[in-house]
Amino acid sequence: MPEAVTMDKIVSLARRRGFVFPSSEIYGGLGSSYDYGHYGVLLKENVKARWLEAMVRERDDIVALDSSIILHPAVWEASGHVTGFADPLVDCRFCKRRYRADQIADAECGARPSKHPGETDKCDLTEPRQFNLMFQTRIGPVEETGQDAYLRPETAQGIFINFKNVAQIARRKPPFGIAQIGKAFRNEITPGNFIFRTLEFEQMEMEYFVPPAEAEEWFRFWVEERRAWHLRYGIRESHLRVREHDAEELSHYSSATSDLEYLFPMGWSELEGIAHRGDFDLRAHTEASGTKLEWVDGQERYTPHVVEPALGVNRSMLAFMVDAYDEEVVAERERTVLRLHPALAPVKVAVLPLIPRNDDMVAKGRALYEELRRAVVAEYDDSGQIGRRYRRQDEIGTPYALTIDEQTLEDDTVTIRDRDSLAQERIPISGARAFVQDKLGEDWKTPKPS
Ligand code: ATP
Repeated sequence: MPEAVTMDKIVSLARRRGFVFPSSEIYGGLGSSYDYGHYGVLLKENVKARWLEAMVRERDDIVALDSSIILHPAVWEASGHVTGFADPLVDCRFCKRRYRADQIADAECGARPSKHPGETDKCDLTEPRQFNLMFQTRIGPVEETGQDAYLRPETAQGIFINFKNVAQIARRKPPFGIAQIGKAFRNEITPGNFIFRTLEFEQMEMEYFVPPAEAEEWFRFWVEERRAWHLRYGIRESHLRVREHDAEELSHYSSATSDLEYLFPMGWSELEGIAHRGDFDLRAHTEASGTKLEWVDGQERYTPHVVEPALGVNRSMLAFMVDAYDEEVVAERERTVLRLHPALAPVKVAVLPLIPRNDDMVAKGRALYEELRRAVVAEYDDSGQIGRRYRRQDEIGTPYALTIDEQTLEDDTVTIRDRDSLAQERIPISGARAFVQDKLGEDWKTPKPS
């Protein structure tokens, strides 16, 4: 039995292979901030591409949008974020730590980590105080005359304030949706858990505008649709569940919310939220701006209700990495492998000449690589032992490796090695590109047991 995947193992792999680095490391680091290296960028881009594909390319009823990070400050007044987007915080006057009041039961005491805050004689906790999560900034060159503004804490409001533009110009009739991917910022105070919760993160949000009578049905539709998306890209069914919020947990805008929870190393935690926002947002912006954000068609006139699936790119990337992580012993050697869905894998195929000193092998390898890279993200590697090179590709999740060997020089065939089964098959070099592309187009299911 392989050991359970711990966050430390993921952090270590992410760092070792250059997926994710702690941010500002040479200055001692900055909590809850991370920088993404080469493979991290490629993986993140693939997560976003698969989301956009499922939302926009595969559907007729959803269009894309890219709104500003800094919006008119009135947006956040109207949306309720200025007054309502806050966490209740408790400070400890003794250890100077800060906790979310609703998470004290799970938090560690700063002075005695085996205890919870408030459990030792020394703990001296303040009453909970509301702390707004929005980052503030100022617009304008001069401090005194500038205007206060916020970095958006979610991408959704940029969608609501564009409702009229899109409904009219894209000539959409409810039910229709607007999808957006972009950075969001939150002054989060609960640290830890790697890229699960960060100060800045990319969100993938889609606001689906529907006739009020259909809202309930669409809410259920999107919970199921989003669940299916995570499974389609490899998340094991046993590690994903739907959890409905109770009445007291609901956000100020929501009449129903279901979280898709993933079994992260620290336990079941929110991966994606699907909220039934009713007509809260369009009404709030109509009242505050004076612009009617409603659907009008002849005699028909109403404020659409909204169903919103919202997912963090880095949180999704973390779930995919955790789910894909595997360790096994093959021929008495340990290997770590990321069994990522090929459509998510940062690199799709590696070309490896068996003997790097052999000029003919190198020439064949480079020519094949040049051909493959025109179609997919490919890598060429002729440094060191072949075993080491395979292990490197396994760790970054490359589904296929093509090896150039003695026989290639005789008959122009190569072996293709499958990352998961380790099966090797010999194919003509001329068919390698089509072979890889066909493989990448096939349905895929994780070989990991549920
Ligand atoms: P949480 O309860 O975890 O703080 P939330 O319920 O406030 O999250 P939403 O406002 O519903 O989160 O945001 C939608 C999604 O955006 C979340 O499901 C998550 O995937 C992502 N997300 C939210 N906050 C962060 C963050 N600080 N870092 C990374 N991803 C985040």
